[in-house]
Amino acid sequence: MAGLHDKFGRAITDLRISVTDRCNYKCVYCRTGNEGALYGDLPFADYLRMARVLVGMGITKIRLTGGEPLLRNGIVGFVRELAKLRPQGLKPPSSAGANGTAEGAAFHATPSLEIALTTNGHLLADMAQRLKDAGLDRVTVSMDAVDPDRSARITRVPNGFDHVLAGIRAAREVGLGPVKVNCVLMRGFNEDQIIPFGMFAREENVIVRFIEFMPLEEGRTWAPSTVVTLDEILARMSEYLPVMEIEHGRSETARRYRFEDGIGEFGIIAPVSHPFCGHCSRIRITSDGKIRTCLFSVWDHDLHAQMRRGAGDEELAEFIRGVVMKKEERHHIGEADFVPASRTMVHIGG
Ligand code: SAM
Repeated sequence: MAGLHDKFGRAITDLRISVTDRCNYKCVYCRTGNEGALYGDLPFADYLRMARVLVGMGITKIRLTGGEPLLRNGIVGFVRELAKLRPQGLKPPSSAGANGTAEGAAFHATPSLEIALTTNGHLLADMAQRLKDAGLDRVTVSMDAVDPDRSARITRVPNGFDHVLAGIRAAREVGLGPVKVNCVLMRGFNEDQIIPFGMFAREENVIVRFIEFMPLEEGRTWAPSTVVTLDEILARMSEYLPVMEIEHGRSETARRYRFEDGIGEFGIIAPVSHPFCGHCSRIRITSDGKIRTCLFSVWDHDLHAQMRRGAGDEELAEFIRGVVMKKEERHHIGEADFVPASRTMVHIGG
């Protein structure tokens, strides 16, 4: 079987790279506001080598995240280098060389490579065109309220809302679309924003995706009662306008819906009430170069340590294959045996 598979037969095609665990926002569902970066980051050349090996093994989608990825100086250049990993830039195995080039039969040309980025949008407006020119395909922008005051309460950053809105619009205008807007719903903060976001999706021509709050926050405040579930979101949105479900890809995390009049689309990512682990195609690399096979992993796997000890590309590939075999079958959110992940979201890369 070509490509990268785990022991449950899931194809691993989707890589998330966190390029920093620093963030300029302190969202209530993510951070306490007291902790800063805990793990540091690596030179881009190191992430690039990891990405190149993984693309050679069958990764077809790379998402850059953090922390806040746009805080990293050099992010545009990194996107440009990643874009060179697309098939036309991928060296075939026959041109294999020492450390740093594709070696041996373990590698095969990838059919395509999508490069995306998730950002809080604060710095996006000024960077959107350069990111697009460098080869970025799409952005997802996090925004948790369609209202400046509520946004400030959630992000704990005053005056952020206008920057984020400008970022979303700039991304759309330069062609980094369809722009997706992620909204984490947390009871007591923004569950009344469902219909405003429905209006926003229609007016701004973006795909809003509601995300169920997961127990990955620094403050460990999660409880089942704080989660606004898929059923509740759908019921609320249907009070606004009739909606219908549209087909979504097997490994897509979001269930997709559109308004019956054809204007506007939204999605719901429901890992708590409707887990989709059976179709998970993701692995993550943390800002300090560890592989995580699940958001809820209680351990990680030090890929960067392998590089530091001088491993060649084939050895890295072997290490990665072994790690992927350990990918967890599913998460245990809300179950009696749930063990919190060994890192919180900001230090993993969502
Ligand atoms: N700073 C960037 C941003 O704000 O999009 C990228 C990193 S952020 C950790 C990635 C995504 O994780 C965001 O869409 C954020 O809303 C989501 N997220 C963070 N904590 C979460 C939690 N406890 N449950 C669900 N989603 C969460």
